[in-house]
Amino acid sequence: MISGLALDALKLRPTPALGREELLRYGRHLLLPEVGIEGQRRLKAARVLIVGAGGLGSPAALYLASAGVGTIGLVDFDIVEVTNLQRQLLHGTRDVGRPKLDSARDRLFDTNPNVKLELHPTRLTSANALTIIGQYDFVLDGTDNFATRYLVNDACVLLGRPNVYGSIFRFDGQASVFATDDGPCYRCLYPEPPPPGLVPSCAEGGVLGVLPGLVGTVQATEAIKLILGIGTPLVGRLLLVNALDAEFRSVNVRRDPTCPACGTRELTELVDYEQFCATIGGDAAGLDAVPQIEPRDLAIRRASGETIQLIDVREPHEWEISRIDGARLIPLHRLESAITTIDRNASVAVYCKVGTRSALAVRDLLAAGYRQVWSVTGGIVRWSREVDDTVAEY
Ligand SMILES: [Zn+2]
Repeated sequence: MISGLALDALKLRPTPALGREELLRYGRHLLLPEVGIEGQRRLKAARVLIVGAGGLGSPAALYLASAGVGTIGLVDFDIVEVTNLQRQLLHGTRDVGRPKLDSARDRLFDTNPNVKLELHPTRLTSANALTIIGQYDFVLDGTDNFATRYLVNDACVLLGRPNVYGSIFRFDGQASVFATDDGPCYRCLYPEPPPPGLVPSCAEGGVLGVLPGLVGTVQATEAIKLILGIGTPLVGRLLLVNALDAEFRSVNVRRDPTCPACGTRELTELVDYEQFCATIGGDAAGLDAVPQIEPRDLAIRRASGETIQLIDVREPHEWEISRIDGARLIPLHRLESAITTIDRNASVAVYCKVGTRSALAVRDLLAAGYRQVWSVTGGIVRWSREVDDTVAEY
């Protein structure tokens, strides 16, 4: 049986009665001896915070709401974009342009009007994380970036709140339950964030739309198990999901005695996580300091007849989707071997999808002695929006 201070408190909390409509609604749960009336009342008493109303948060929130989790907190500050709809089931086409929390509220109330929603329309930061997370029994982490993931983890460890973790990339997903009394935390698994730019985001690398559905549903399952105190939770295990191979496997993760969060406990307060993730990895630091050129400025300079070599460092399949006229494709991993084909005596503008890989390329070109080199700010996405909308955005 899993233990955790917050979960112990949940077990001791008086459980509210269920009305007639609730008895009917949760009938299939009540048939399970492992849930029953008492379990369903415990679900109603539970308070769960979901960080991020995106790909993972969508299925998780829908299943927790439909399961009758009494109070669901949601943290998000994003606006619904049409590119979200391929996987973020809380939001619909008519919600494009609305705050995600607004469409999430509408959708979840329709799913189950008995659920109390607590909306936090803000970015989770070191300044507010302890206050927000402290109001809940545990967290379901649906964030899409390393800085917030470390922030959620450290806040959970400091507060003694379990952290139901999930992450996705392309066709691969992971899930685990961190920061319980007896299990490891996210830092035990990943002591350091990857160098900035090394691991592309989903906006950069793509993700199969159903994958967050798989992983977010696993997170919801673990959340319900934690509340009910049943089964074997994913504590000390990392579930690895590969959608292409249809493989689910789990690897053991042990608590690291030298972990500054849950091991030595030398981490006694939250830090600046943007900074933490930006400076780790040494040689990859300072990417935001590389010379940049705005898409419009680049277009003007090219139109005026200036000779600028335009290098596209994306992958061939991205090149197939769309490209900027006159560009040459040199995928980032081939840059080193192809560097002699780039003229040192003419200016070079490098672009990728959103500007991360191009910044890495510019840093390498500068190190190789190129002098007039820029990374195109915002990549082909901003080029499409600001210069040439016939270039497809993806
Ligand atoms: Zn740890």
